[in-house]
Amino acid sequence: MRHEHSPEGLPHYDQYIDGDWQPASNGQTFTVFDPANGQPLAICASATHADVDRAIAAARAAFDQGPWPHTSPARRADILHAIADALEARNFELAEIESRDAGVPLRKTTYNDITLGLEILRGCAEMARKHPYEPLPWTDLPTVSWNFVWREPIGVCAQIIPWNYAFCMAAWKLGPALATGNTVVFKPSSLAPLSTIAIFQTIHELNLLPKGVVNLVLGPGSEVGEYLAAHPAVDKVAFTGSTEVGRKIMALAAPQIKRVTLELGGKNAMIVLPDADLDLVVDGVLWGAFYHSGQLCEAGSRLLLPRSLHDTVVERLVERVRGMKIGDPMDLETDIGPLISERQREKVERYIAIGREEGATVAIGGGRPLGEVFVNGYYVEPTIFTGVQPEMRIAREEIFGPVLAVLAYDEIGEAIRIANDSIYGLAASVWSRDLQQALAVAQRIRAGTVWINEHHVLNPRAPFGGYRQSGFGREMGQYGLDEYTEVKHIHVDLMQRRQGRLWWDTLLPE
Ligand code: NAD
Repeated sequence: MRHEHSPEGLPHYDQYIDGDWQPASNGQTFTVFDPANGQPLAICASATHADVDRAIAAARAAFDQGPWPHTSPARRADILHAIADALEARNFELAEIESRDAGVPLRKTTYNDITLGLEILRGCAEMARKHPYEPLPWTDLPTVSWNFVWREPIGVCAQIIPWNYAFCMAAWKLGPALATGNTVVFKPSSLAPLSTIAIFQTIHELNLLPKGVVNLVLGPGSEVGEYLAAHPAVDKVAFTGSTEVGRKIMALAAPQIKRVTLELGGKNAMIVLPDADLDLVVDGVLWGAFYHSGQLCEAGSRLLLPRSLHDTVVERLVERVRGMKIGDPMDLETDIGPLISERQREKVERYIAIGREEGATVAIGGGRPLGEVFVNGYYVEPTIFTGVQPEMRIAREEIFGPVLAVLAYDEIGEAIRIANDSIYGLAASVWSRDLQQALAVAQRIRAGTVWINEHHVLNPRAPFGGYRQSGFGREMGQYGLDEYTEVKHIHVDLMQRRQGRLWWDTLLPE
């Protein structure tokens, strides 16, 4: 690949099309910034429509004429394992890339993100080994036949991801698509594309995938993403991002009835039951709400407390937030890093102002941290609002920042009603010592994932996805692989004679 450095010494990254690193056809570029200090980090090629056309044509050819869709599941699994091994060898480098690019504290990228991404790739490799054959029950109606399901790849998949959790997200999009024999045109967010570029560099260096199986285009969503999602030669769009853009993607996919999976926003409730272990609750709520500054789709942004525990829990949370270290994401001591961009910070600050106007009380935070180190980065203090009512905007809309809305409830039925009173349905957590009661609550929550005495833990073997406007389709586990396959029923007649068949009695004369 072109690895020039610009006059300012910045690395310069191209797009990856048909097994080759290529600049944009018109030489266009965009700059990637470090959210911790606002400084430029890298220059990237910005794809034109002609570049996207070439990437899709390469993926199309690799699917329609290439060996990939017919490569044995075992061979695909070996290749995915090889990619995971090669990425693991770059573990710390990848963690640093992701931390710098997305402002994610290095502790998180080192101990969670890269490990989880690799685990997902390896899980897909293991599941890929499963033969795409699924037997169906025996039938002799109307005659004896052998029936089975054959799962086949869908075709060319456009995969579009947001800036948060980029490495993991890329792994959990590429893993299932490749495991099942699809080809891919991938578009990361322009705000944090660098860990995805590193994955593609590794794939290129390994040289195990046929040309055109994976392609990478870079650039703004409204231009590159939209053109890609609407392209008639794309068979499936796998999108992770905001609900607002998800609605557009659905409309763009409609003319060709493209296969679509949407992983969208959330306004996830953490429901504390009256008997909960409060030590666990306080840790868990901080983890649920402020991990990666709340910039996670499944972040716990609403805390539902029994009125009897409200003041105690809030007091303890406030005390603990005071002790959290906001700072440079590259520092291993840092708990809370910056937001991804000035625009995101403005959005979060707008919601903090709305919360105040709506009459909620800021128990802690609400501003920007003070100090030289924060001046050029996009920092916001972890913020807790109390006195929040279910109808307030800060209790209903996704803020995607370190802002926790605390609501008090009087009885569990009310808590469940508040939790479910949302356009979203991505995730929730229930906190209780009584597992039977916690399970009963979990079963009544309308969300794709419910943790009991836990939050955020994504399990590479378990389905992840949303109810309602949090999207549809599932990622990870066998469910995630299934989303990348067409289901073909094959019926093999075993009678070898005319009598007894449906046509015998219903249509044809003897
Ligand atoms: P976003 O919707 O603005 O962008 C997501 C991706 O879509 C980016 O690559 C962007 O360039 C592209 N895009 C933007 N406009 C487009 C268009 N018109 N057509 C095609 N592509 C377009 O989201 P974001 O701000 O990058 O990420 C934050 C959002 O993502 C939050 O709402 C969060 O909840 C959601 N998210 C969901 C999940 C999940 O699994 N459910 C995971 C992570 C993030």
